[in-house]
Amino acid sequence: MNVSSRGRFTFSGGVHPPENKSLTCESQIQPGPEVKQVAVMLSQHIGAVCRPLIRKGDAVQAGQKIGDSDAFVSAPVHSPINGKVKEIALRSHAVLGRSLAIVIETDDEGPAKRPSFQVPADFDVSKYSAEQICEVVRKGGLVGMGGAGFPTRVKIEQDPRIPKDALIINGCECEPYITCDYRIMLEWTSQIIAGIKLAGKASGCSKVFIGIEDNKPQAIEIMSAALRDSGDADGIIAVPVKTKYPQGGERQLIKAILKKNVPPGGIPPMIGVVVLNVATTAAIAEAVVSNLPLTHRVVSVTGEAIAKPGNYYVPIGTSVEDLLEFCGLAPQKSAKVILGGPMMGIAIADLKTPITKTTNAVTVLMKEQIGSAKFARRQTPCIRCGRCLQACPENLNPTKIAHAVKNNLLDVAERYNIGTCIECGCCSYVCPANIEVTGYIKTGKIFLARQKQKMPR
Ligand code: SF4
Ligand code: SF4
Repeated sequence: MNVSSRGRFTFSGGVHPPENKSLTCESQIQPGPEVKQVAVMLSQHIGAVCRPLIRKGDAVQAGQKIGDSDAFVSAPVHSPINGKVKEIALRSHAVLGRSLAIVIETDDEGPAKRPSFQVPADFDVSKYSAEQICEVVRKGGLVGMGGAGFPTRVKIEQDPRIPKDALIINGCECEPYITCDYRIMLEWTSQIIAGIKLAGKASGCSKVFIGIEDNKPQAIEIMSAALRDSGDADGIIAVPVKTKYPQGGERQLIKAILKKNVPPGGIPPMIGVVVLNVATTAAIAEAVVSNLPLTHRVVSVTGEAIAKPGNYYVPIGTSVEDLLEFCGLAPQKSAKVILGGPMMGIAIADLKTPITKTTNAVTVLMKEQIGSAKFARRQTPCIRCGRCLQACPENLNPTKIAHAVKNNLLDVAERYNIGTCIECGCCSYVCPANIEVTGYIKTGKIFLARQKQKMPR
């Protein structure tokens, strides 16, 4: 396998929506607003919610741990600023609806500047043991920064029952509009490479691949050159993968590069594979080398209604409102604010919603881009064209699942493997009848989860 095998690596299904990345792809990572207040959510990851370790009125320092849990699958949270705890209160949460957050106001000296991080010239991965790396990654509150927020320690820790064999670094960023990972690859290259070496050591993986879509030749070139220049990066290979959505889905990237299938309902470690996003990898280097916890992240703020679209380095807990004000939102043009991209992102109604560890973008769409009354696409009956089946990257039958959910036949939806759906939206995207196929499937999954937990509807 070599880097010249341009674009051959891919999966079946998927779509190629307009990329719309030109708004921000040339925008260097720059500081975001100097916030006076942050709301750090106690649930920013898959797993147990943190309990607060501070009380109202307590003074906190930037980088101080303010919430944690004893559960194995969890990650602590830290204050990104110096200040005082104003309250511990419910805040809007993109996924959970409402969730507890620690609200911190800056003190008179304003927010502490996060120390800038450079990989030291004498960085040597052999100085760290696998256990040490896992411990620091846990302490630093690291979670997957490109997706659902799975705690990174749980992903990389070695398990003698299923030895880990391959580490894939996800630099695809296949969602339209978003370019934060692209900029991180261009600007924080040495940090990513140091993080890869540390993650490789912690996980014990002998093979390491950096998967980058072939619409980002500059990133492929820069990463490949940095690997060549790095003395001890043998066995780490930059792999150009075909530009196609959802190429950055873990299951799809594993299929593309390793030709392996993650079992339905399973996770990559079950087949000895670890997938880490490039931003997470850079954060591993910061945590291990400089003991910096995850308190800031790069967010693409994008869309035609934004005066200064770009990639901003912001404290976690910054409100979407503060960020949009800083970037010059034109409210008369905007119709929908999405955390993430237009395919898999979540639309929010409350602009006070805080940025979390997993918020890679704030995308603002205009009226003519969504189904407003004037521009609505009329839904018509299914014409059995089969396009949704061809587009589904999980080889599901989306129309049958949606039909079952619509008719409240959840057992039938389960027989059609509704649980395997990754909610990528490809089926809705290609449907000529404008049926919100993904919407039905998402609803069916929620109903099934409630049924299983015996929760009232
Ligand atoms: S059924 Fe699920 S996985 Fe398949 S295309 Fe639709 S949203 Fe994506
Ligand atoms: S793409 Fe739409 S119209 Fe075609 S089979 Fe699927 S649901 Fe029916």
